[in-house]
Amino acid sequence: MTTLAIDIGGTKIAAAVCDANDSIIQRWRVPTPMDADAINQHIADIYHQAVASGHDDIEAIGISAAGNVGADRKTITIAANIPAWINYDLSEHVGALIDHAVPVIVENDANCAGWGEYVHGAGQGSRNMVALTVGTGLGGAIVIDGRLYRGSFGMAAELGHLPMVPDGDTCGCGLRGCAERYTSGSALEHFAKSAVRRRPQDAKRLLELCGGDVNKLEGPMVSQAAQEGDVLGLYAFGKIGEWLGRTMAAVSAVLDPDLFVIGGGVVAVGDILLDPARYNYARFLEGSAYRGHAKIVAATAGQDAGLIGAANLALH
Ligand SMILES: [Zn+2]
Repeated sequence: MTTLAIDIGGTKIAAAVCDANDSIIQRWRVPTPMDADAINQHIADIYHQAVASGHDDIEAIGISAAGNVGADRKTITIAANIPAWINYDLSEHVGALIDHAVPVIVENDANCAGWGEYVHGAGQGSRNMVALTVGTGLGGAIVIDGRLYRGSFGMAAELGHLPMVPDGDTCGCGLRGCAERYTSGSALEHFAKSAVRRRPQDAKRLLELCGGDVNKLEGPMVSQAAQEGDVLGLYAFGKIGEWLGRTMAAVSAVLDPDLFVIGGGVVAVGDILLDPARYNYARFLEGSAYRGHAKIVAATAGQDAGLIGAANLALH
Protein backbone atom coordinates (compact mmCIF):
# COMPACT_ATOMS: atom_id res chain seq x y z
CA MET A 1 0.00 0.00 0.00
CA THR A 2 1.34 3.45 -0.94
CA THR A 3 0.17 7.05 -1.10
CA LEU A 4 1.07 9.81 -3.53
CA ALA A 5 1.95 13.03 -1.69
CA ILE A 6 1.97 16.34 -3.56
CA ASP A 7 3.36 19.60 -2.13
CA ILE A 8 2.35 22.61 -4.25
CA GLY A 9 4.81 25.34 -3.29
CA GLY A 10 5.22 28.88 -4.60
CA THR A 11 7.99 27.88 -7.01
CA LYS A 12 7.90 24.08 -7.31
CA ILE A 13 5.57 21.11 -7.07
CA ALA A 14 7.28 18.36 -5.08
CA ALA A 15 5.76 14.88 -5.22
CA ALA A 16 6.57 11.52 -3.69
CA VAL A 17 5.24 8.01 -3.51
CA CYS A 18 5.33 7.00 0.16
CA ASP A 19 5.07 3.55 1.72
CA ALA A 20 2.81 2.55 4.62
CA ASN A 21 5.25 4.21 7.09
CA ASP A 22 5.28 7.47 5.07
CA SER A 23 8.84 6.78 3.90
CA ILE A 24 9.56 8.27 0.49
CA ILE A 25 10.29 5.70 -2.23
CA GLN A 26 10.17 7.82 -5.40
CA ARG A 27 10.25 11.57 -6.03
CA TRP A 28 9.21 14.11 -8.66
CA ARG A 29 9.82 17.84 -8.87
CA VAL A 30 8.45 20.32 -11.44
CA PRO A 31 8.17 24.13 -11.48
CA THR A 32 4.78 25.43 -10.27
CA PRO A 33 2.76 26.98 -13.09
CA MET A 34 0.60 29.96 -12.06
CA ASP A 35 -2.37 28.48 -13.95
CA ALA A 36 -4.75 26.22 -12.01
CA ASP A 37 -5.51 23.90 -14.96
CA ALA A 38 -1.79 23.36 -15.58
CA ILE A 39 -1.27 22.47 -11.90
CA ASN A 40 -4.07 19.88 -12.08
CA GLN A 41 -2.55 18.38 -15.22
CA HIS A 42 0.91 18.15 -13.59
CA ILE A 43 -0.56 16.26 -10.63
CA ALA A 44 -2.48 13.89 -12.90
CA ASP A 45 0.65 13.31 -15.03
CA ILE A 46 2.70 12.46 -11.92
CA TYR A 47 0.00 10.03 -10.78
CA HIS A 48 -0.03 8.29 -14.17
CA GLN A 49 3.79 8.15 -14.22
CA ALA A 50 3.81 6.66 -10.72
CA VAL A 51 1.32 3.95 -11.70
CA ALA A 52 3.22 3.26 -14.94
CA SER A 53 6.46 2.84 -12.99
CA GLY A 54 4.93 0.06 -10.89
CA HIS A 55 3.14 1.86 -8.06
CA ASP A 56 -0.24 0.33 -8.85
CA ASP A 57 -1.05 0.14 -5.11
CA ILE A 58 -1.54 3.90 -4.54
CA GLU A 59 -4.56 4.22 -2.24
CA ALA A 60 -4.93 7.99 -2.10
CA ILE A 61 -3.42 11.28 -3.20
CA GLY A 62 -2.67 13.80 -0.44
CA ILE A 63 -2.13 17.38 -1.60
CA SER A 64 -0.46 20.07 0.51
CA ALA A 65 -1.51 23.49 -0.80
CA ALA A 66 -0.71 27.06 0.26
CA GLY A 67 -4.23 28.28 0.88
CA ASN A 68 -7.20 28.00 3.20
CA VAL A 69 -8.79 24.59 2.75
CA GLY A 70 -12.45 23.96 3.60
CA ALA A 71 -13.59 21.43 6.20
CA ASP A 72 -14.42 18.99 3.36
CA ARG A 73 -10.63 18.62 2.76
CA LYS A 74 -11.28 19.13 -0.96
CA THR A 75 -12.02 22.79 -1.59
CA ILE A 76 -9.54 25.65 -1.46
CA THR A 77 -11.44 28.60 -0.01
CA ILE A 78 -8.84 31.18 -0.94
CA ALA A 79 -5.13 31.24 -1.82
CA ALA A 80 -2.77 34.17 -2.19
CA ASN A 81 -0.74 32.85 -5.15
CA ILE A 82 -3.24 31.18 -7.51
CA PRO A 83 -6.04 33.60 -8.55
CA ALA A 84 -8.40 30.81 -9.70
CA TRP A 85 -8.32 29.16 -6.28
CA ILE A 86 -11.42 30.79 -4.81
CA ASN A 87 -13.88 28.20 -3.51
CA TYR A 88 -12.08 25.85 -5.89
CA ASP A 89 -12.69 22.09 -5.62
CA LEU A 90 -9.11 20.95 -6.23
CA SER A 91 -10.00 17.36 -5.33
CA GLU A 92 -12.70 17.17 -8.02
CA HIS A 93 -10.56 18.87 -10.69
CA VAL A 94 -7.63 16.48 -10.14
CA GLY A 95 -9.96 13.50 -9.65
CA ALA A 96 -11.62 14.10 -13.04
CA LEU A 97 -8.22 13.84 -14.77
CA ILE A 98 -7.46 10.43 -13.22
CA ASP A 99 -10.97 8.95 -13.70
CA HIS A 100 -11.45 9.18 -9.92
CA ALA A 101 -9.20 6.14 -9.56
CA VAL A 102 -8.26 7.09 -5.97
CA PRO A 103 -9.52 9.68 -3.45
CA VAL A 104 -7.80 13.08 -3.54
CA ILE A 105 -7.42 14.79 -0.15
CA VAL A 106 -6.39 18.46 0.12
CA GLU A 107 -4.82 20.01 3.23
CA ASN A 108 -3.34 23.38 4.11
CA ASP A 109 0.47 23.39 3.73
CA ALA A 110 1.22 24.48 7.31
CA ASN A 111 -1.10 21.74 8.60
CA CYS A 112 0.75 19.16 6.49
CA ALA A 113 4.18 20.33 7.68
CA GLY A 114 3.02 20.43 11.31
CA TRP A 115 1.44 16.99 11.06
CA GLY A 116 4.65 15.67 9.47
CA GLU A 117 6.54 16.91 12.53
CA TYR A 118 3.95 15.34 14.82
CA VAL A 119 4.04 11.84 13.33
CA HIS A 120 7.70 11.61 12.28
CA GLY A 121 9.60 14.63 13.67
CA ALA A 122 10.07 16.73 16.79
CA GLY A 123 6.40 16.42 17.80
CA GLN A 124 6.45 12.68 18.46
CA GLY A 125 5.12 11.78 21.91
CA SER A 126 3.40 15.13 22.49
CA ARG A 127 -0.31 15.17 23.32
CA ASN A 128 -1.08 18.82 22.55
CA MET A 129 1.33 20.36 20.04
CA VAL A 130 1.45 23.63 18.15
CA ALA A 131 3.78 23.89 15.14
CA LEU A 132 4.85 27.28 13.84
CA THR A 133 6.55 27.53 10.45
CA VAL A 134 8.63 30.71 10.22
CA GLY A 135 8.84 31.22 6.45
CA THR A 136 7.91 34.17 4.25
CA GLY A 137 4.90 34.35 6.57
CA LEU A 138 4.10 32.48 9.78
CA GLY A 139 2.21 29.19 9.34
CA GLY A 140 0.54 27.26 12.14
CA ALA A 141 -0.72 23.76 12.88
CA ILE A 142 -2.57 22.60 15.98
CA VAL A 143 -2.71 19.05 17.32
CA ILE A 144 -5.10 18.42 20.23
CA ASP A 145 -5.24 15.03 21.95
CA GLY A 146 -3.21 13.56 19.10
CA ARG A 147 -5.47 14.81 16.32
CA LEU A 148 -5.03 17.64 13.83
CA TYR A 149 -7.45 20.43 14.74
CA ARG A 150 -9.02 21.98 11.64
CA GLY A 151 -11.77 24.10 13.22
CA SER A 152 -15.40 24.42 12.11
CA PHE A 153 -14.68 25.88 8.67
CA GLY A 154 -11.19 24.50 8.07
CA MET A 155 -9.70 27.85 9.09
CA ALA A 156 -8.10 26.96 12.44
CA ALA A 157 -4.39 27.50 13.16
CA GLU A 158 -4.02 30.67 11.09
CA LEU A 159 -1.62 31.73 13.82
CA GLY A 160 0.33 34.11 11.58
CA HIS A 161 -2.77 36.27 11.52
CA LEU A 162 -3.29 36.51 15.26
CA PRO A 163 -3.84 40.23 15.86
CA MET A 164 -0.83 41.15 18.03
CA VAL A 165 -0.56 44.93 17.57
CA PRO A 166 -3.71 47.10 17.40
CA ASP A 167 -3.54 49.22 14.21
CA GLY A 168 -0.06 47.81 13.52
CA ASP A 169 1.70 47.11 10.21
CA THR A 170 -0.56 46.21 7.27
CA CYS A 171 -0.55 42.47 6.54
CA GLY A 172 -0.93 40.67 3.19
CA CYS A 173 -4.32 39.44 4.44
CA GLY A 174 -5.64 43.02 4.47
CA LEU A 175 -5.77 43.35 8.26
CA ARG A 176 -3.23 45.13 10.46
CA GLY A 177 -0.86 44.10 13.23
CA CYS A 178 -0.87 40.34 12.43
CA ALA A 179 1.79 38.19 14.14
CA GLU A 180 3.56 37.40 10.86
CA ARG A 181 4.32 41.07 10.33
CA TYR A 182 6.61 40.79 13.38
CA THR A 183 7.82 37.19 13.34
CA SER A 184 8.62 35.66 9.93
CA GLY A 185 11.41 35.64 7.37
CA SER A 186 10.01 38.88 5.95
CA ALA A 187 9.96 40.46 9.42
CA LEU A 188 13.60 39.41 9.93
CA GLU A 189 14.59 41.30 6.78
CA HIS A 190 12.49 44.28 7.82
CA PHE A 191 14.07 44.51 11.30
CA ALA A 192 17.59 44.08 9.86
CA LYS A 193 17.09 46.71 7.14
CA SER A 194 15.69 49.30 9.53
CA ALA A 195 18.57 48.64 11.95
CA VAL A 196 21.13 49.14 9.15
CA ARG A 197 19.51 52.46 8.22
CA ARG A 198 19.40 53.67 11.82
CA ARG A 199 22.85 52.43 12.87
CA PRO A 200 25.07 52.42 9.77
CA GLN A 201 28.14 52.64 12.03
CA ASP A 202 27.32 49.13 13.34
CA ALA A 203 26.28 47.71 9.95
CA LYS A 204 29.67 47.00 8.37
CA ARG A 205 29.19 43.22 8.12
CA LEU A 206 25.56 43.32 6.92
CA LEU A 207 26.42 45.94 4.28
CA GLU A 208 29.36 43.81 3.16
CA LEU A 209 27.07 40.79 2.73
CA CYS A 210 24.49 42.72 0.65
CA GLY A 211 27.10 44.43 -1.53
CA GLY A 212 26.56 47.83 0.09
CA ASP A 213 22.88 48.07 -0.97
CA VAL A 214 20.60 47.64 2.04
CA ASN A 215 17.63 47.02 -0.28
CA LYS A 216 19.34 43.78 -1.35
CA LEU A 217 19.68 42.48 2.20
CA GLU A 218 18.06 39.04 2.50
CA GLY A 219 17.26 36.64 5.33
CA PRO A 220 20.15 34.19 4.76
CA MET A 221 22.63 37.12 4.99
CA VAL A 222 21.13 38.13 8.34
CA SER A 223 21.39 34.49 9.51
CA GLN A 224 25.04 34.33 8.46
CA ALA A 225 25.90 37.62 10.22
CA ALA A 226 24.08 36.56 13.40
CA GLN A 227 25.94 33.23 13.46
CA GLU A 228 29.21 35.20 13.21
CA GLY A 229 28.12 37.22 16.26
CA ASP A 230 27.25 40.41 14.36
CA VAL A 231 25.38 42.80 16.66
CA LEU A 232 22.69 43.90 14.17
CA GLY A 233 22.11 40.35 12.92
CA LEU A 234 21.60 39.25 16.52
CA TYR A 235 19.34 42.26 17.12
CA ALA A 236 17.06 41.28 14.19
CA PHE A 237 16.78 37.69 15.45
CA GLY A 238 16.15 39.02 18.96
CA LYS A 239 13.19 40.99 17.61
CA ILE A 240 11.51 38.14 15.69
CA GLY A 241 12.33 35.85 18.63
CA GLU A 242 10.60 38.23 21.01
CA TRP A 243 7.48 38.32 18.85
CA LEU A 244 7.56 34.56 18.42
CA GLY A 245 7.58 34.28 22.22
CA ARG A 246 4.70 36.74 22.58
CA THR A 247 2.74 34.81 19.94
CA MET A 248 3.32 31.49 21.73
CA ALA A 249 2.20 33.01 25.04
CA ALA A 250 -1.02 34.21 23.36
CA VAL A 251 -1.58 30.77 21.81
CA SER A 252 -1.00 29.18 25.23
CA ALA A 253 -3.77 31.28 26.76
CA VAL A 254 -6.18 29.47 24.42
CA LEU A 255 -4.72 26.00 23.89
CA ASP A 256 -2.20 25.35 26.71
CA PRO A 257 -0.02 23.02 24.58
CA ASP A 258 2.84 20.95 26.01
CA LEU A 259 5.09 21.54 22.98
CA PHE A 260 5.86 24.16 20.34
CA VAL A 261 7.77 22.95 17.28
CA ILE A 262 9.39 25.78 15.34
CA GLY A 263 10.13 25.12 11.65
CA GLY A 264 11.14 27.09 8.57
CA GLY A 265 14.46 28.17 7.08
CA VAL A 266 15.45 30.70 9.75
CA VAL A 267 15.40 28.03 12.49
CA ALA A 268 18.76 26.86 11.16
CA VAL A 269 20.29 29.47 13.52
CA GLY A 270 18.95 27.42 16.47
CA ASP A 271 19.14 29.09 19.88
CA ILE A 272 19.90 32.50 18.34
CA LEU A 273 16.16 32.48 17.54
CA LEU A 274 14.85 30.04 20.13
CA ASP A 275 16.45 31.59 23.25
CA PRO A 276 14.73 35.00 22.88
CA ALA A 277 11.54 33.13 21.91
CA ARG A 278 11.70 30.99 25.08
CA TYR A 279 12.52 34.00 27.26
CA ASN A 280 9.60 36.06 25.97
CA TYR A 281 7.20 33.10 26.01
CA ALA A 282 7.90 32.74 29.74
CA ARG A 283 7.74 36.51 30.23
CA PHE A 284 4.28 36.95 28.68
CA LEU A 285 2.73 33.66 29.80
CA GLU A 286 -0.12 34.02 32.27
CA GLY A 287 0.77 32.59 35.70
CA SER A 288 4.25 31.93 34.35
CA ALA A 289 5.94 31.29 37.71
CA TYR A 290 3.32 28.82 38.95
CA ARG A 291 2.50 26.60 35.99
CA GLY A 292 4.03 24.09 33.61
CA HIS A 293 5.75 25.53 30.55
CA ALA A 294 5.60 24.10 27.04
CA LYS A 295 8.86 22.87 25.54
CA ILE A 296 10.01 24.96 22.57
CA VAL A 297 12.12 23.01 20.08
CA ALA A 298 13.30 23.22 16.47
CA ALA A 299 11.61 21.08 13.81
CA THR A 300 13.49 17.93 12.78
CA ALA A 301 11.54 16.43 9.85
CA GLY A 302 13.25 18.83 7.41
CA GLN A 303 12.18 19.85 3.91
CA ASP A 304 10.02 16.75 3.51
CA ALA A 305 7.75 17.47 6.51
CA GLY A 306 4.97 18.71 4.20
CA LEU A 307 5.14 15.67 1.91
CA ILE A 308 5.28 13.25 4.84
CA GLY A 309 2.35 14.99 6.51
CA ALA A 310 0.30 15.02 3.29
CA ALA A 311 1.00 11.31 2.76
CA ASN A 312 -0.08 10.46 6.31
CA LEU A 313 -3.15 12.72 6.30
CA ALA A 314 -4.36 11.27 3.00
CA LEU A 315 -5.25 8.09 4.88
CA HIS A 316 -6.34 9.60 8.22
ZN1 LIG B 1 -2.76 38.94 8.44
